[in-house]
Amino acid sequence: MERVRFAPSPTGHLHIGGARTALFNYLYAKRTGGKFIVRIEDTDLNRSTTESEKVIIDSLKWFGINWDEGIEVGGPDEPYRSTERNFIYEPYVKKLIDEGKAYYCYCSEEEIEKERQESLSKGETYKYSGKCRNLTEEERKKLEEKGIKPVVRFRVPDNEPIIIDDAVRGRVEFNTNDIGDFIIVKSDGIPVYNFAVVVDDHLMKITTVIRGEEHLSNTPRQILIYKALGFDIPKFAHVSLILGKDRTKMSKRHGSTWVEQYEQAGYLPEALINFLALLGWSPEGDEEIFTLEELCEKFSLERVAKNPAVFDIDKLNHINGIYIRKSPIERIVDLSIPHLIKAGYITEEFAKDNRQYVTLLVSTFREKISHISEIVNHAAVLFGDEVKIENEEAAEVLKQEHVVSLLDELYAIVNEAEKLDNEFIQNMFKELKNRTGAKGKALFMPVRVALTGQVHGAELVNIIELLGKDNVLKRIEYTKK
Ligand code: GLU
Repeated sequence: MERVRFAPSPTGHLHIGGARTALFNYLYAKRTGGKFIVRIEDTDLNRSTTESEKVIIDSLKWFGINWDEGIEVGGPDEPYRSTERNFIYEPYVKKLIDEGKAYYCYCSEEEIEKERQESLSKGETYKYSGKCRNLTEEERKKLEEKGIKPVVRFRVPDNEPIIIDDAVRGRVEFNTNDIGDFIIVKSDGIPVYNFAVVVDDHLMKITTVIRGEEHLSNTPRQILIYKALGFDIPKFAHVSLILGKDRTKMSKRHGSTWVEQYEQAGYLPEALINFLALLGWSPEGDEEIFTLEELCEKFSLERVAKNPAVFDIDKLNHINGIYIRKSPIERIVDLSIPHLIKAGYITEEFAKDNRQYVTLLVSTFREKISHISEIVNHAAVLFGDEVKIENEEAAEVLKQEHVVSLLDELYAIVNEAEKLDNEFIQNMFKELKNRTGAKGKALFMPVRVALTGQVHGAELVNIIELLGKDNVLKRIEYTKK
């Protein structure tokens, strides 16, 4: 049975790239009938925080992909946080040291830095000199007596090829001559990521490691550890980077980079999932809209592209718009309310007492939005006493000769209304047509511009109903001035 994992380091938010890695793992597990595990890799004590762990887990949950074993849900390999697994790593470190496959190194940071500068000045890539490789027991004791806390380094064998048969990248070859003896346990006794990840993946019986391409350079080191510990090596699939439209690495400049930001802007998780699935993976055929269940059926690593994926926000907006329009209106109303409250258009109480009104508002503008927070920009037209004439074209509409009497008649009809509901407004236009002889564009356009200042916009009948009698009268007076 396939077992895959997502192993975030809790050093920030859930990045779009991380979310895609988690998704690909999840889809692969579902597709193959396997298990998906989430564990927290907090080996970097300086950068890991519990807040970040919470943010990442919350984002995964919002995303709607759940895991079979791991952090929070538990499972056979508890605990699922690296810092709590030191007692598990320790015997493996000891084994490597006892077998001479790893050794204590007492070099200070300054010494290492000096070595690094020396190779730099020679134009070479830095590799640890191996100074502590063959310390005698006596030499070690002396250094220990000085109170120096050693690191543990892995003894990298000479001139051995390391071949990765990557499910995405194909055959990738490294040579141990390019890898210096690397640290596996820091001087504080905490194993580094490269070591912990191997022990964890082995004990958790991970069969396929699907992760970002940025980890490809770690893989040869990890393979050396697998071999040294006599573990089976899993399959690897290194998924390409995500680039911005200008083909540089996706960063803040290209838009939001965290899942949380998309949630806050009002993207729907299933739309983001759909979009992220297409970021590097392509289905057979032209269809692009898939539910999570459909993705679970279709996903395969064979169709994950080797070249970098380009993050196209317009495409995400397009997909999100589709999901917004196909979701039940009640859900879109619920998601819109916090944005409308935040904009100061409505209060929480108003939203509770006037659900029908808010539903009409949201259904009037949902055609036009690609993410929920945009509803605020569109609904702006309903609020405030002033009508801002948006451009010359709109101003011209109001300058037409028949407009003065048209607006007078409109005022008179509305003034007599008890309430502006849909039926009344439909009849109102008929009546207005009868009284003024204006029809079509000549009838509707001046009314739209007088009430909204705009020549285009959402369904006019709805806008009038949403404005309500008082506002309509106020606005007619305002534009007539
Ligand atoms: N903890 C690593 C990260 O957050 C993931 C490493 C891996 O998947 O092997 O980038």
